[in-house]
Amino acid sequence: MKSKIKGFMDLVKQRNPHEPEFLQAVEEVAETVIPYIVNNEIYNGKNVLLRMVEPERVLMFRVPWIDDNGEVVVNRGYRIQMNSAIGPYKGGLRFHPSVNLSILKFLAFEQVFKNALTTLPMGGGKGGSDFDPKGKSDEEIMRFCHSFMAELSRHIGSHTDIPAGDIGVGAREIGFLFGMYKKMRNEFTGVLTGKGISWGGSLIRPEATGYGTVYFAQSMLETRGDSLKDKTVVVSGSGNVAQYACEKATQLGAKVVTLSDSSGFIFDNEGIDTAKLAFVMELKNIKRGRISEYIKKYPKAKYIEGKTPWGIKCEVAMPCATQNEVNGEDAKMLLSNGCFVISEGANMPSKPEAVTAFQSAKILYAPGKASNAGGVATSGLEMSQNSLRINWSREEVDEKLKKIMSDIHDACIEFGKNENGYIDYVRGANIAGFVKVADAMLAQGVV
Ligand code: NDP
Repeated sequence: MKSKIKGFMDLVKQRNPHEPEFLQAVEEVAETVIPYIVNNEIYNGKNVLLRMVEPERVLMFRVPWIDDNGEVVVNRGYRIQMNSAIGPYKGGLRFHPSVNLSILKFLAFEQVFKNALTTLPMGGGKGGSDFDPKGKSDEEIMRFCHSFMAELSRHIGSHTDIPAGDIGVGAREIGFLFGMYKKMRNEFTGVLTGKGISWGGSLIRPEATGYGTVYFAQSMLETRGDSLKDKTVVVSGSGNVAQYACEKATQLGAKVVTLSDSSGFIFDNEGIDTAKLAFVMELKNIKRGRISEYIKKYPKAKYIEGKTPWGIKCEVAMPCATQNEVNGEDAKMLLSNGCFVISEGANMPSKPEAVTAFQSAKILYAPGKASNAGGVATSGLEMSQNSLRINWSREEVDEKLKKIMSDIHDACIEFGKNENGYIDYVRGANIAGFVKVADAMLAQGVV
């Protein structure tokens, strides 16, 4: 089996030599899915996984815009249309200086499996730009978004490809992007998700990724007759996903003690309660400040510059910032401090050595493609509401989100439970996602 996996990976490496994040994501899937393929005649010998690692289409384009000093700036825009076997391409847009083809291809690849897990008819895609929104005025953000959409609008549509937000793309950016799409195409359709409530958005969409990550942690704990109540939780990031993970964990009786950004983290031993979280939301979403400012308002908390929060003692950890933010040493620290639940809000936040450490220790470990699928699932619910031209209530959307997260958890058990009872959520998520997409691809022939 090892040589089969190696042979497959050698080919993928040869074709994508400078794409470490993409290769990392593919390898994790190959290690669990290839043994399944070999043991299941209907998939064996059809090169389905080989087809799945090749994007259906990669778009790369120039995004010129004018800054507040009148200078012309040029960024690079991308959209990876990875797989449309079970529905139109769906996945977020990331605006961050680190964005490149490797990062977007890894995200698009993960998205294919994640979207399949949601049970909704959505294919996988991802896009974005190396544009850095930090420190830009609202007008600069608008000019950039308009230029980006002037090109992207040719390639997307409510039945073709429906982007959403991700790092650096929130409600403000979705608004500017939607405005330009509507102007260029002269149509008001659900072409983007994460829209404002008064113009086609869904209640609970902003909360959905963070809430879903917490619901998934709760489901995992229930398999051991436990719950989040009175647990100490370490969260990284302080953006959209981190904020709502913190909110829902607190509502379920846990104490969240950290938040972070790329400069450092805050540690509040008394817990980040509702009032403190409201301060963070205003700081990050409206004032666009840094998490270090938290200690000016709450001086009992500490700010630790240049570090990640994984050395803080906790039972539950939720990495909600970015890929590869938990390394092998971090994993060791978490485990030695008694952490036994990891629910990933971010995409691929744990490096392979960290994943191995969590699995060897037999803790409850959920990969992002399962635990953070609540965001795209609720985007799917936003699409349904747009098509039906109706709005569901907060309670209705939240109930559907809970049900979807619980179904994803069940699917992970179906394909990931070992004979000794341990649930391998990585294998479970990868195979459950693969089966759905592979069946559709086989039914549609070689296209
Ligand atoms: P936001 O832009 O709202 O927040 C990102 C947060 O992560 C910020 O606090 C940011 O800090 C921090 N961060 C970003 N890059 C780094 C880095 N290289 N090192 C350390 N910290 C970093 O993004 P989201 O909350 O939307 O996304 C967070 C993660 O969740 C991403 O992995 C994303 O792919 C994933 N995700 C998001 C979904 C969504 O619905 N939004 C859905 C599913 C997954 P700083 O401000 O300093 O950059």
